[in-house]
Amino acid sequence: MSGMPSIKSREIKIVQEIPISKTLRFWEGLKEGKVYATKCTKCGKQYFPPVADCPNCLNSEIEWIELSNEAEVETFTHVVFRPTSFCQYKPYTVAIGRLKEGVKVLTWLTGFKLSEIKVGMKVKLVAKLSQEGNPTYEFVPL
Ligand SMILES: [Zn+2]
Repeated sequence: MSGMPSIKSREIKIVQEIPISKTLRFWEGLKEGKVYATKCTKCGKQYFPPVADCPNCLNSEIEWIELSNEAEVETFTHVVFRPTSFCQYKPYTVAIGRLKEGVKVLTWLTGFKLSEIKVGMKVKLVAKLSQEGNPTYEFVPL
């Protein structure tokens, strides 16, 4: 009722916990040198990076598929002016590679001279540890 003396309650925050357990296999896989994507058991759509729920059909049942590591460069960019968070790195190249399984992966492309990189060339997707020791993945020469 209006006019009643009242106090404001404390603001209540709702924190959504992201279920890391659902994508834990991905991070564990990287540590073992394996790169996993997820596949929806209902509509068959494949996702990389893995998702716990299918955005296409909202199904929560996914299966893990280990990627073959064989990729073809679809496009790439050489980054000279780095965002602040990447300033400690030398200029780098990022590429989108299409894997044999059909999923596309965006990540660093290393081990090539810039002049050697061509659209359509075959590269290998490998799991590795970043300079900070975190599991990550990148494209390297075959
Ligand atoms: Zn689906």
